[in-house]
Amino acid sequence: MLDSFLTQRLSAIDGVSLDDSQTFADLTTLRVGGAPQVTVVCESAAAAVSALRELDATSTRYMVVGGGSNLLVSDDPQDIVVVRLAFEDIDVHVAFGLVRADAGATWDDVVAMTVDCGLGGIECLSGIPGDAGAVPVQNVGAYGAETSDVLTQIYLYESATRSAAWVPASSLDLSYRYSNLKFTGRGVVLAIELQLTTDGLSKPLRFGQLTQNPGERRPVASVRDDVLRLRASKGMVLDPADHDTWSAGSFFTNPIVSSSTADVIQSKVRVARGDEDADRMPRHAVPAGSDGEEVKLSAAWLIERAGFAKGYPGSGPATLSTKHTLALTNRGDAKAADIVALARDIRAGVLAAFGVELVPEPIWLGVSIDE
Ligand SMILES: Cc1cc2nc3c(=O)[nH]c(=O)nc-3n(C[C@H](O)[C@H](O)[C@H](O)COP(=O)(O)OP(=O)(O)OC[C@H]3O[C@@H](n4cnc5c(N)ncnc54)[C@H](O)[C@@H]3O)c2cc1C
Repeated sequence: MLDSFLTQRLSAIDGVSLDDSQTFADLTTLRVGGAPQVTVVCESAAAAVSALRELDATSTRYMVVGGGSNLLVSDDPQDIVVVRLAFEDIDVHVAFGLVRADAGATWDDVVAMTVDCGLGGIECLSGIPGDAGAVPVQNVGAYGAETSDVLTQIYLYESATRSAAWVPASSLDLSYRYSNLKFTGRGVVLAIELQLTTDGLSKPLRFGQLTQNPGERRPVASVRDDVLRLRASKGMVLDPADHDTWSAGSFFTNPIVSSSTADVIQSKVRVARGDEDADRMPRHAVPAGSDGEEVKLSAAWLIERAGFAKGYPGSGPATLSTKHTLALTNRGDAKAADIVALARDIRAGVLAAFGVELVPEPIWLGVSIDE
């Protein structure tokens, strides 16, 4: 429990309420995790700023939780306050293609609304769970599109100054599944602004499963439909009835390595799996690579080639998704410890087979992949 002084100060803020009934299992899509000290619910950006100031002034450990779709939390009670941002307006200026969304807006509502308006740029990011405020945190991306393609600025509460201001996207160091908001405690995103295109067409499509003609642009609504269908076939759209979606999405990031390291990995694949597999090993040049020498490998491909099939290990409380080897899933009564054990198993297997140490994508709280 919070100390009574802080409880009083927080409760006195207009638009703030405290809830001690929720556990991380209730708040996350992996549906595991113990209770936080308390959940602080903020109904407006102003209320959030006031509450965050109180928490920072008392050096209280806190974490914003949006959709809980990128979090793995220990089963033990957590000495941390959860902050929920319960404001969710979405403003779309159709003629200019300019969009502002409150942090608490559901991300896919932002995508659906802009696609309905014929705006282009985020249709490939359809169906990704979570809130708009979380999207810059790991520069959310899918099917060849990334948040950084369209994000212009964010309204950010900065812990260092205890104040909120619009800051340009260029100050966030956005890169593959990274920003300087991830793992750093720099601040809390209160709203985002996106610049989209207004001609009704998607961004140029690059991903093979979406187009036969790389670079083509198609009507945004049809691209959104295709993306949602593709994602659902891989268990990547939340569905409470489908345990393949009780996950944190892709559990490991795709390794980015130097070209010479990729050659070494490919030769290990050749020895272990033969020429056919080795010749087909996915390796994509990283466009923004510092020296043009970096390549991105496929974590899912490496996991499969290391001997972990979809659904591995076949039974138990936590398994790989039966639709996608990159998702670790809760089959109904898993604990965080079960997910952690599976993650360690997969990471150790890929390391032993190919010398690649996979890096988890979600935020871990109270648990670690290292033994
Ligand atoms: C089925 C499934 C599919 C997925 N597919 C993709 C995908 O295709 N591409 C992709 O990139 N990700 C994907 N993810 C991961 C996840 O959905 C995204 O990372 C999403 O942006 C997380 O949003 P959230 O609101 O759930 O964040 P949470 O899980 O609640 O939080 C994640 C982290 O962000 C921080 N955070 C959240 N909100 C804020 C805020 N307003 N200000 C500052 N920090 C904040 C939290 O403190 C925490 O550290 C998928 C997840 C699932 C379950």
